[in-house]
Amino acid sequence: MNHVLARKWRPKTFNEVVGQEHVVKALTNALKQKRLHHAYLFTGTRGVGKTTLARILAKSLNCENGITSAPCGQCAPCREIDAGRFIDLLELDAASNTGIDNMREVLDNAQYAPTRGRFKVYIIDEVHMLSAKAFNSMLKTLEEPPEHVKFILATTDPQKIPVTVLSRCLQFNLKQIPSPVIACYLQRVLENEKISAEPSAVLLLARSAQGSMRDALSLLDQAIAHDAAKVTDSGVREMLGAIDQTYLFEILRALLNRDGAALVAQVEQMASRSLSLEAALQDLATLLQQIALAQTVPDALPADLPERAQVIELARDFGHEDVQLFYDIAVRGRNEIDLAPDEHTGFTMTLLRMLTFMPADSPVLSLQQEKSSMATAVQPSLLDTGGESVKTGTDGSLKKNRFDGDWSGLVAQLKLGGMAKMLAQHCELANYTGDSLELRIPDLHKHLLEKSYQEKLRLALSDYFGIRIAVTFAIGGNGNSPAEKELRDKKQRQMHAIEAIEKDSFVRELVENFDAKVIDSSIKPVQ
Ligand SMILES: [Zn+2]
Repeated sequence: MNHVLARKWRPKTFNEVVGQEHVVKALTNALKQKRLHHAYLFTGTRGVGKTTLARILAKSLNCENGITSAPCGQCAPCREIDAGRFIDLLELDAASNTGIDNMREVLDNAQYAPTRGRFKVYIIDEVHMLSAKAFNSMLKTLEEPPEHVKFILATTDPQKIPVTVLSRCLQFNLKQIPSPVIACYLQRVLENEKISAEPSAVLLLARSAQGSMRDALSLLDQAIAHDAAKVTDSGVREMLGAIDQTYLFEILRALLNRDGAALVAQVEQMASRSLSLEAALQDLATLLQQIALAQTVPDALPADLPERAQVIELARDFGHEDVQLFYDIAVRGRNEIDLAPDEHTGFTMTLLRMLTFMPADSPVLSLQQEKSSMATAVQPSLLDTGGESVKTGTDGSLKKNRFDGDWSGLVAQLKLGGMAKMLAQHCELANYTGDSLELRIPDLHKHLLEKSYQEKLRLALSDYFGIRIAVTFAIGGNGNSPAEKELRDKKQRQMHAIEAIEKDSFVRELVENFDAKVIDSSIKPVQ
């Protein structure tokens, strides 16, 4: 049953070859112009079509209708090559036959003219596995090749082929076939075979084939057998041992809500279905990578991603740092799962670690707190004199923050980190009202006006005052940002320090009597 489709759907002409357009084009052009080489080398990972192309090329060279880029498939040589019994085609697999010490014999035979065809064709698969001795015999033939001999070599590992051999081959590098191309081909096969399939299942198969059409077709064979002549998403997942993504999305949502109970409940559900929790961590890392991609380079997110909408939603809800952190913890957790008492414990601990180390000022948390503090806010104004109006703070404690116009002082108290903090420090206050701040930032630092940094600053301010604060930004400023003030202070302290040193009588004496110089940059003010 296995490999039925792979055999049945193996391309028989260059036109049918999928995903290797660059190679097909070069080969067909050369054939049309009758520019023939003595040796061809196809390189590429497994299942990308190396021997398929080799056989089509063998037909091109031996078709009774003449050397052609479109072998007829009807004449005796074409049909016999397709059936694998053409007398002048020798197919050797160096991998299964390392002891091709009879290579000498094989090659001695090359001297004689072909029996039926135009050329004697030698297809040697996994040619890098040949012994040094075998390569030497081949080299001798390659140096003075008889007119009627063609070598078609294929390898997954061209590095291991002696340069002397490589230099005598016309080399073609086959690419891994992109999963959308594979999916499209599988769809065509399914339509022709009149088998119904869920599109997401086909995508899943295409992806897990990792660039190999042969693997994709044999996986499809298995899926058809598994699901009794139809291909379903759940069936394919089960067959591939793939975790239902729903579990992973539930886990991420539990993290988003900081809901430890929901998190543990998910783990229990997964464990009760005896899913591989190690595989789940791997899938979780993959999912986090997709979320990070959606956050930073949204265009790079594959258009055919089955859970695209959910990924984009989570990308919006999670902070960038959260995703980076979770990814890191997931990868480490998977590495360490063997060290854990058991898989279940290792998996649970990894998720709890994510929950524990989720930054306290992540936008997710602030957003929720903002909502709750909005509810309890009595008089929403940051000008509030405090006193009577009391609001709930981040930590649940009561706090009453009002703004006295000291932006630098305020920035120092905000819970900010990284680039959002930089943004705050480089801004100066232009104006403020009861619930809004107008900030200016020098042109030099306008790159800090990234939407996500603006949003973090806004959330930190809202969190601090316990009301929703609107913040607007403009380019400009009068040198009054906390960063600029800090720089000025530092310069002033340095000047004072230099002055003090120079006034020092002992130093003056050194300078005057011994022609000593004070190196200003070596002076550091006492902090
Ligand atoms: Zn033919």
